[in-house]
Amino acid sequence: MTLTSRSAVITGSTSGIGLAIARALAKEGANVMINGFGPAQEIEATRAAIEQDFGVRALYHGADMSKPAEITQMIATAQDQLGAVDILVNNAGIQHVAPVEDFPPEKWDQIIAINLSSAFHTIRAATPGMKARKWGRIINTASAHSLVASPFKSAYVTAKHGLAGLNKTIALELASFGITSNCISPGYVWTPLVEKQIPDTMKARNMTKEEVINTVLLAAQPTKQFVTVDQVAALTVFLCSDAASQITGANISMDGGWTAA
Ligand code: NAD
Repeated sequence: MTLTSRSAVITGSTSGIGLAIARALAKEGANVMINGFGPAQEIEATRAAIEQDFGVRALYHGADMSKPAEITQMIATAQDQLGAVDILVNNAGIQHVAPVEDFPPEKWDQIIAINLSSAFHTIRAATPGMKARKWGRIINTASAHSLVASPFKSAYVTAKHGLAGLNKTIALELASFGITSNCISPGYVWTPLVEKQIPDTMKARNMTKEEVINTVLLAAQPTKQFVTVDQVAALTVFLCSDAASQITGANISMDGGWTAA
């Protein structure tokens, strides 16, 4: 257990990558605050399972990552209830796919707010405490789309490129305070959301499951394998370790070779 006595806030952690990260940090002994949307009963079960499985404190805060005042309040609550925010994982994110001329302006604003600006607001609120304690880990779930583009994802690609820029700036500002800031940039990650798309795509394109995976979903991923949420979580844990204290301002790809092309 390498993170005993640390406290972490993970945005967008009621499902998918964020939940795997929260559980992996808790497994290492960190107290965690999870955040995100979903049915109240399911969220409570998720929160309670973290406490039961790992013997740490797990709190939930329902702040909407598109609302700066709620974000500030979430970080203040974590500092108050857990004593500190040592580890901040900016993970919440949404997607919308449409040609630019049809892209709804309100979707653009929402994606920029949730996928990019929320990280500014969490970092702004959590940094004074990290500086005072001279230790901090900021980890941003970016994407292969922080490095390369795909058509019809203008807001997402813009937000993720912006997040990579914010990451570098923050790393420089905080380098002398024992605080690191890094991006993890996954390619396609195997999540329930991805799994659910497969049957419809098989029907729509008259393809087998293997064809959908290889030629549609993993077209850009040379290994032809999905990244797993546990792999992203394991890299997060590593970035929180002392062995990673000199890794800062990096944007680490975990994309099966996608961005090597
Ligand atoms: P997911 O939909 O399973 O999880 C997203 C989480 O964000 C959920 O907990 C959701 O409730 C929360 N969320 C959404 N809007 C929110 C808001 N306004 N306020 C607070 N929480 C909100 O998705 P995921 O695949 O686990 O994605 C997590 C992150 O990983 C995102 O930033 C995404 O862009 C990134 N990512 C995902 C993949 C992939 O293939 N799944 C690839 C690269 C990057």
